[in-house]
Amino acid sequence: MAAVGLGQILARKLLPVPYFLLASQRCWASSFKATDLQVELCQKPQKKPDPEEPLIFGKRFTDHMLTVEWCKEQGWGVPCIHPFRNLTLHPACSALHYSIQLFEGMKAFQGKDKRVRLFRPWLNMDRMLRSSLRLCLPEFDKLELLECIRRLVEIDKEWVPSGEKKASLYIRPTFIGNEPCLGVHPPLKALLYVILCPVGSYFPGDSLKPVSLLADPRFVRAWTGGVGDCKLGGNYGPTVFMQEAANREGCEQVLWLYGPDHQLTEVGTMNVFIFWTHKDGVLELVTPPLDGIILPGVIRQSLLDLAQLWGEFRVSERKVSMQELLLALREGRVREIFGSGTACQVCPVHRILYQGELLHIPTMENGSELILRFQKALSDIQYGSDSHKWMLPV
Ligand SMILES: *Cc1c(COP(=O)(O)O)cnc(C)c1O
Repeated sequence: MAAVGLGQILARKLLPVPYFLLASQRCWASSFKATDLQVELCQKPQKKPDPEEPLIFGKRFTDHMLTVEWCKEQGWGVPCIHPFRNLTLHPACSALHYSIQLFEGMKAFQGKDKRVRLFRPWLNMDRMLRSSLRLCLPEFDKLELLECIRRLVEIDKEWVPSGEKKASLYIRPTFIGNEPCLGVHPPLKALLYVILCPVGSYFPGDSLKPVSLLADPRFVRAWTGGVGDCKLGGNYGPTVFMQEAANREGCEQVLWLYGPDHQLTEVGTMNVFIFWTHKDGVLELVTPPLDGIILPGVIRQSLLDLAQLWGEFRVSERKVSMQELLLALREGRVREIFGSGTACQVCPVHRILYQGELLHIPTMENGSELILRFQKALSDIQYGSDSHKWMLPV
């Protein structure tokens, strides 16, 4: 499959025009190829985690990783799968100085039939290429990268935890500028790499644990014209401070508001959904639209797709302000509020601290019915044994 052409990208409206202008000066046609993969297996595999041991997110890594280097003169090098090891970076490297860095997060699951499959990885590849172009990192062929990742997971297949306890293998593709020069400009050298972590269920023991949120309009995660719709490392480092502020107020995460009308945008690093009776009297699932400040989550898209398929209530992508939410809470119209993301899948919200008032959200009292239904629909697909069109077998 050839690299995605510019016309194709624009036709699919994946990129607004300014991205194309930035990218047009760069080499378009080149990509590394999965058929060139070089594999160096590790001599001494590590001991796999004990199935009884709780897996802390992102702490254990598998035996192998994938790396591909790029430089302006020679283009892409050959992709390599090799033993997991530290990187060697020049101290002036642009990832370290100017956050020329992006990442992805996706999962592989072991189905009931013991086969391993990736969940909608094509959407992660689309998003990763979009983030790359936004940072003036080089283009690559999404399907070639996906095939390299598939091979990596295949090699470390023994690391994919059994599906019994809703565990999975988290896949972290990363792309950094590593030019050894302090100038602020499109990198002349880059490194794409992928590492893997076995992770446990976000909700051990299968009981939903709701989160409380601090909604402080002084905290802004992303803004119009910015890069909130790309998964760039630079969007995350600065949020740790607000996360700490939330913790000090007794809240677990931040509800990110935006604009003078305090629109709800995202929850921590999750997209946000409200299931309620809208003020027009119609039962509705609503999430903010992809207007540039929202990260286009794969789970977000999947919940919208599932709900649309069921066709039992209205599914809307629309802005929601805190005033609208306050009114709906007062009138008893809110059923459930939840976040969505690869780590947790779907995560209930039970409290929001807003302008000194602790708002009680009746998600749990209402039996979190929609949340449980989404969880089940997703896990039936992810841990199932049939070849669902959302799953890529490894
Ligand atoms: C990654 C991320 C999400 C969730 O995306 P998924 O593809 O569903 O995991 C939502 N919001 C932000 C800010 C994120 O970084």
